[in-house]
Amino acid sequence: MPYQNFAGSFERASKTSHADIVRNPDVSDFLSECEHLRPPSPEEGAELAERFLEPPHLDGVVLPSKVMAVDGSATERSIDDQLPSTKVGYVKVSATLIDMAQFNDLRVHDGRFVDPCRVAALENNNSSLTFALPSANVRWRGMQTVRQSFRAYLDACLYGTNTRFKPDDPATSLRTTLFHLAHRRPNDMATSSAAELRLHRCPNDGCEARNLLIRDVPDQQHCPRCNGPVFPSDCLRIWEAVEEFQANGEAINRAMNTIEHLMPIHYIRYLADNSLASLGTTAFFVDGPLAVFGNSAWLHGSIMRFTSEINDRLTAARLPRILMIGLQKTGAVVDHAGLLSRFLPDNRVFCIDDAYRYRYILSGREEAGNGFGYESYYGQDFIFKTESGRVFVFGIPYTFPTKHPEGVDFRSAKAEMARYESLPQALALIQHFESDLYQNAVIPIALAHRYTAISLVPGGRVLDVLTQRGLSR
Ligand SMILES: [Zn+2]
Repeated sequence: MPYQNFAGSFERASKTSHADIVRNPDVSDFLSECEHLRPPSPEEGAELAERFLEPPHLDGVVLPSKVMAVDGSATERSIDDQLPSTKVGYVKVSATLIDMAQFNDLRVHDGRFVDPCRVAALENNNSSLTFALPSANVRWRGMQTVRQSFRAYLDACLYGTNTRFKPDDPATSLRTTLFHLAHRRPNDMATSSAAELRLHRCPNDGCEARNLLIRDVPDQQHCPRCNGPVFPSDCLRIWEAVEEFQANGEAINRAMNTIEHLMPIHYIRYLADNSLASLGTTAFFVDGPLAVFGNSAWLHGSIMRFTSEINDRLTAARLPRILMIGLQKTGAVVDHAGLLSRFLPDNRVFCIDDAYRYRYILSGREEAGNGFGYESYYGQDFIFKTESGRVFVFGIPYTFPTKHPEGVDFRSAKAEMARYESLPQALALIQHFESDLYQNAVIPIALAHRYTAISLVPGGRVLDVLTQRGLSR
């Protein structure tokens, strides 16, 4: 990643004296009283391994002809060494298209074709969406506060021509994709069409106005009560975490995370409207669980509804459903899978149910009332040990439009492996890329080791690239 992670420098600094701290008797007493993830005993390991199943046969599974991988990074920097408390955030989100078909015949005998120049170009690519966000002590274009500046600039970025599939058509902007999601919110946050969305309250200081209707128009809109500026992307509520005089790592990371999950939906929306057939042969890789956390977590519900509607259209056209994979490289499930790995036979898959998760992964934490991930997840987590013994944790989208499907208990249904039609394709794809995915934390770079990658910004010739090759076969 071109940018350093927020946690990076902190972790390095804290490791030096860690051993001394743990030897302190008070600390070791405390640690002995804490519940946390620990290696399973041999009996437990054998018992858990029993629950893993042999995956369906993957021999005849057709791989998608194109894979799009979305990858984000974020950082916050002082604007100048002499002004350490004046900060700007940087968010970079790139979408990379891996063409699985075009260069098949260029592969060498062992099935691997690596073009180091292309991989290097990808690592250094500057064509991804890069946003600078106002942070501590920085105001933008006459805005009154850092928070207002952050809101205004984030909105301008999402509306920007470089997020549009057609630069002169604002309806193809990332911001309009946000309208399509926000319009699908339930109950009193819903709107009659994607031309409008609702803000739960006015974001301007001291204003109490609630449930504001915002239109998808280029003009600046104002709160009817305080007359302060309001922006469509205020609905993401990332601004709530923005501080005037302090570092804004949380808000900047949230912005990145949110855009990472908006991007696949942005492409899916465009392809669904312009080339449904192309969508049916494209897979999407996202970094991390299929979940949106924090104040914009409501997006997860809209993503479920939106993808479900598109899936209905794909099914009606006899095309495969949307294949989206959230690959996890860190986190409690990955740690758990690592501890369990030596007890698992090769070629096993497990669909993590809530009872298992709360007992073995979340170390006895009390089960949430509506089940794990109710407020944030739009996909189900799986643990997969491949035929060659590598362990992966990944998510694929739930198969329901909401978490309250009629006549079905969502909490148990979500963990029924047979419901996931796209699972064999997901497993086959992960197995296909496994050695590169295993070694490389950055998914597009991992995939690019095997195939040619095309870095995409929406404003580029995305549709040409996605469809013409699709049509030529
Ligand atoms: Zn107001």
